[in-house]
Amino acid sequence: MKVNTTSNGGLLSAVLFFLFVPSNNAQSQVRRLDQRVPALQMITGSDSSFDKTILELVDKVNGKDIRSLIETLASDSFEGRATGSAGFEKAADFVAQHFEKNNVVPIGSSYFQKFKLDTKTVRSKVHLHETSNDSVETMNVIGIKKGTFHPDEYVLIMAHLDHLGKRQDSVYHGANDNASGVAVMMTVAEMLKNVNTSRSVVFIAFTGEEVGLMGSAYFVTHPPIDLKKIKFMVNLDLVGSGSNGMMVQGIDGHENEFSEIQQINQTYFQFELGTRPNSPNSDQYYFHLLGVPAFFMYAYNGTMPYHSPGDTAEKIDILVVENVAKFVLMNAWKFAQKGR
Ligand SMILES: [Zn+2]
Repeated sequence: MKVNTTSNGGLLSAVLFFLFVPSNNAQSQVRRLDQRVPALQMITGSDSSFDKTILELVDKVNGKDIRSLIETLASDSFEGRATGSAGFEKAADFVAQHFEKNNVVPIGSSYFQKFKLDTKTVRSKVHLHETSNDSVETMNVIGIKKGTFHPDEYVLIMAHLDHLGKRQDSVYHGANDNASGVAVMMTVAEMLKNVNTSRSVVFIAFTGEEVGLMGSAYFVTHPPIDLKKIKFMVNLDLVGSGSNGMMVQGIDGHENEFSEIQQINQTYFQFELGTRPNSPNSDQYYFHLLGVPAFFMYAYNGTMPYHSPGDTAEKIDILVVENVAKFVLMNAWKFAQKGR
């Protein structure tokens, strides 16, 4: 964010400071979210949580690969992934197959946590797959990478998979909202494929977010894991566009975890990090209410069309998704390695 240099600049920058509190001190340089990050292996960081193995993995993260996952998720054949639709189920299969390829296994007998959604109680029927039934069946997609030392402690990486579907002949592709978050989550899973973590890492693609956080509400009321053992959680939504930095929401009550996030940022990335308290705007909401250190990360000041058929994959910024994936991978790794 630019600071105004006119006579009102002092006041304006004070106001902006409260709207968007940067995590870096004044002397340090701030890197835009759409700028390439130098190879982390070259940085002599002071943080011993990160050995060569993980730095190499982070350096391998490639925005072009992430965008090709987004292209698939946001393609016409997935029909805008409306909750309860065949297109959503295809997308859910695609995520489950990716889990399977990358040593992420089901928690129970299936990757799919199926449930019936009462069509009369959803917040926004407009965003539900057109149906005359009283309920539709849908599912969250959940996979786990088992921890080596503390398999019963968890780090969660999640993103909502559903979007608005089709209206008349228009497909609402939902590339930024939220194929971007799902693709970053899938990428983190892929990067961790051949390394061991101390804690378990759980990956979730939620359904029903656009109709009122229904998938995450079902998960917290029917949890397949002990919610009290979730030590860190990142929810990703709208991470494909926006140069100014990242917003980290839900820091209230979890200042210690947030200071670790800031430390990673300071040492390796130098992005501008804004902060907000928890609010019911995405799937971290109920987790945070239950006391989980649940952080919602999104790219700040994105320019992509929102809830419009124009939210398409070719507009996704390769460097933004790449940088977000690198940042989330570092954070997931740090919290997953504790207790070793
Ligand atoms: Zn969204």
